Amino acid sequence: MLRTAVVVDRAYINHRATYEHPERPERVRILLDMLSGFQRDNLRSIVPRAATRAEVTLCHDEDYFAFVEGAAAFRDYQFDPDTYAGPGSFATALLAVGGVLTAVDAVMAGEVDNAFAIVRPPGHHALKRRAMGFCLFNNVAVAAAYLIETLKLKRVMIIDWDVHHGNGTQELFYRSSRVLYASLHQYPFYPGTGALGEVGAGEGAGFTVNAPLSAGYDDQEYLRVFDELFMPIGRRFEPEFVLVSAGYDCHARDPLGQMRVSEAGFAAMARRAKRLAAETCDGKLVAALEGGYDLQALANSARATLEEFGREADEPMPGAEGGRRADEMIEKAQAVLSRFWTV
Ligand SMILES: [Zn+2]
Repeated sequence: MLRTAVVVDRAYINHRATYEHPERPERVRILLDMLSGFQRDNLRSIVPRAATRAEVTLCHDEDYFAFVEGAAAFRDYQFDPDTYAGPGSFATALLAVGGVLTAVDAVMAGEVDNAFAIVRPPGHHALKRRAMGFCLFNNVAVAAAYLIETLKLKRVMIIDWDVHHGNGTQELFYRSSRVLYASLHQYPFYPGTGALGEVGAGEGAGFTVNAPLSAGYDDQEYLRVFDELFMPIGRRFEPEFVLVSAGYDCHARDPLGQMRVSEAGFAAMARRAKRLAAETCDGKLVAALEGGYDLQALANSARATLEEFGREADEPMPGAEGGRRADEMIEKAQAVLSRFWTV
């Protein structure tokens, strides 16, 4: 068995809207309930620390940091029609970034083999100087920047299986060859980015890998994208750390997304991320919660991910059965990326 950490805190409840919003405190409450019934000898719980200003500004502008801090003075503040803040939001957002950093530190120190940071607000839409799509700070992007700038790693891979494209993460590393960003997402869909032709620019050309998927795709299409695109490119990239933007809004029951992924699908994707990390970087792997708005699907899927993280990395990895609807997109992606990678 692998040693896994879950990083979580009740304080993630303190970011709340004054009206009904899908990104709500109950998401963390149900995960805490799930965890209370999920005890394993190889699973330990770690309390997150808050990220510092210096850490957050590895990815975000100083002015934007101050702007988010200032929003806490309001009972309710809208960055845009989707994205709110209240009195507890700034502290919770710092704890969300810090939760992923806590997980990264635990893995880098060898205290555990891998970790899952259950955090909110989510992060992957947050831009350098702008909140959007329920996200204030880009938790996973800051963790990648921390690994590279502070801990001096050379290459970090981010796998993003949230149903939405992580436009913030993509943009932050679009010109970097240090961070390989690989996303599967419903397309066309919010936020509109993530087309096949978006492959990075300058030194970062080839280090953004987008797999835009039609609505209604299920586990098999997702696994095919992993097996024919993400795994071969990831092996050649040879990351020194693998981060996962783990959104569960591609689950069949999710009220926002229209995909058909199941708990078994999340476990199979987690197994692939774990295998890639085992092959390239001694298994160094951290997942961080992004979306997922059906509470029961979220709890079941997060549990499936944690179960998978705790299993040995050499378990069999059966390929997709079917999933042929994704073939055309995969072939186009391979053609576009063949300038940069042998796939
Ligand atoms: Zn999402």
